This record gives sequence, structure tokens and C-alpha cells, in this order.
Amino acid sequence: MNELPLRDDLRGETPYGAPQLDVPVALNVNENPYPPSPSLISDVAAAVAAVTGSLNRYPDREASALRADLAGYLAEFERVSFDSSMIWAANGSNEVMHQLLLAFGGPGRTVLGFSPTYSMYPQYCRDTFTAYVTEPREPDFSLDPDVAVKAVRTHRPVVTLLTSPNNPTGTALPLSTAQAVVAAAAEHGGLVVVDEAYAEFRRPGTASALEMLERHKNLVVTRTMSKAFAYAGARVGYLVADSAIVDAVRIVRLPYHLSAVTQAVATVALHHTEELLAQVATLRAERDATVEWLRAQGFTVADSDANFVLFGLFDDRHAVWQALLDRGVLIRETGPSEWLRVSVGTAEEMAAFKSALLQVTRG
Ligand code: PMP
Repeated sequence: MNELPLRDDLRGETPYGAPQLDVPVALNVNENPYPPSPSLISDVAAAVAAVTGSLNRYPDREASALRADLAGYLAEFERVSFDSSMIWAANGSNEVMHQLLLAFGGPGRTVLGFSPTYSMYPQYCRDTFTAYVTEPREPDFSLDPDVAVKAVRTHRPVVTLLTSPNNPTGTALPLSTAQAVVAAAAEHGGLVVVDEAYAEFRRPGTASALEMLERHKNLVVTRTMSKAFAYAGARVGYLVADSAIVDAVRIVRLPYHLSAVTQAVATVALHHTEELLAQVATLRAERDATVEWLRAQGFTVADSDANFVLFGLFDDRHAVWQALLDRGVLIRETGPSEWLRVSVGTAEEMAAFKSALLQVTRG
């Protein structure tokens, strides 16, 4: 066969993903640098052993125990109570978003985002035959509520994506802006998805859109265990929304999408929340110190509520990125063209990053 019968719109496309390189200091995909503790490892091993005895059976399609434990986590640590019928889990918040667009996107429908923002959004849209439009953020990467409301009224999107904290800028969204967008979307029956992948890293005083859920049936909040729970390899993300939205997603999910091993392992991490959130506090402090240090060196730095920092400005950011890589430090070439993004690692990793950056930029 000369040519595969690939969809016309996929011809020439390449798989998404940052380089996975074996380097001493990997600060490029916003991972949590802390590996699981010995006690978490032994609890995971025990849970996997227990579940292995029934791997001949399909897993719980509804992931009921995990969803109840996620509700417990939100009640205890975010002080918001949800019935587990309002929670849905999948293989990373990537899959959650994909399922949302399978259910609500489609031909003739539009998703609205505010750029610069997460680079996977156009891909979810492409895969679900949904149009993707963006409107710009302000120069400091905040979102002007008037611009956002006007954009919602102009494009009438089926889903408006608000990312808070935003990737790659780290910018959190005031709840008043989210309120305005949710109200504007409700005028034409649109949904608003607040992607809170990095929410646990937000600074004191920054609110979560979870607080708004009780009052707004067109709001979805997505979260992940990849970052705060240091569980990127386990692939667990979830959403919180009105149970009617969960029911819509249940229509399009693949049967048994979340393996029994994943469900068991996720539940174990939720039972170690306190220990894992202590590391989040360390990372927040390291993030704030990194922002301060970069500013003291004269770099321009975006305020960050996440576990990464966007900084610049570079005439040739690729050269800086490459020179850092040559010194064993891998960061991310993403966002606006004069900026680079560094994920927050351990104190040792950040020291290596700082020293390499000074060598590269100060000659
Ligand atoms: N949303 C945002 C804004 C992200 O940056 C990421 C991960 N880079 C995700 C969602 C997806 O994370 P995961 O699929 O690991 O939950």
C-alpha cells in the first residue's frame, strides 16, 4: 500500500510530547521531583498484590471506591463537599478533557481558550472534530474579564477553557473572572471547564473554582494526581461537576477505561495525602525562591501559582535552552517566543539550574 488511509486532517501531524531525554536535571514537564516514600511504595505494592488476585475480572467500570476517596480528599483538604456522583476519574486529566470533548464537542461546535495556554487543547479539539479558537491574554498573562466575556458572546463556544493556574504562564484566575465567564456562557447554554491541574500549588489567598460548583450547573473543574500527588506515572485525573455532566461523560468513556491496578494505586496515594501535600509546601517555597532569584538576576518573570516558572526575555531562547541542555539541565521551550519555562525541582536541582543559567547567560 502506497499510502495509509489516514484522516486528511491528520496527514503531516506528529505525536505530541516534550523530548524524553535522559539528563541529570529534568525540569521540563512539570513533574513533582519527589519519588514515592518507602511507606507509600510498600502500601502500593500491597495494594497491587491484593488486586492481582482478581485481574482475570474487569475492573469496576464506575471506579466507585476511588471517586468516593477523591470526594473525601476534597472535603478534607479543600473544604468542599461533593457527592461522588459529581466526580469522575480517568487516565490523567488529559483523558478527562478528551472525554469531555467527545461528549460535548464535535462538528460545528467551538471550544474557546485564552492564549498562551496549554498546548494539548488544540489536539483534543482536532481529535474530536471540534473547532478551537483563542483570544489573547493581557501582556502580564492575566485574563481581562471584559475581553473574556466578549469572546464568549462572540464565539458562543460549547466549552470555554479557563486554566488556573495557567500552563505555561503560572497565572491564576480570580474567581470574579471565572464567575463572569460562567454567567456569559450560561446565556447560550455553554459549559466552562476550569483546568486546575496545578491547583494545589496556588499561593495563599488564591481561590479554587470548586467553590463555585454548587451554584453553577454549567461549570466543570478538572484536577490531576500527576502534580501535587507526585503520581504522573500512575495516570489519574478527575473532574467535579453536576452529576448530569458526569453522566454525559459516562456515555462516551470506553468500558473499563481505568484499570483495577490504577484504581487501587490511586486510592493508596489518597491515603497518603498529608505526607504528599507536605512536599507541595516545599515546592511552593522553592517556586517562590526561584521567582525571586530570577528577578534579582534581572530576568522578567511571570507570577506563578504553579510548580513551574515562565521567565525571559531571550532573543534566541532556543540557544539558551540548548546551552542548558548541554550542561545537563533540561527545561521547556514553550509559550511566547522570548520565554522559557522551568519546572520546580528539588533544592539541588534548582541550584544546578541556576548555576547553569548563569554560565549560559553571563558567559
Ligand atoms: N492540564 C494542564 C494545564 C496541564 O499542564 C497538564 C499536564 N501537563 C494536564 C492538564 C494533564 O495532566 P495529566 O494528564 O497528567 O493529568
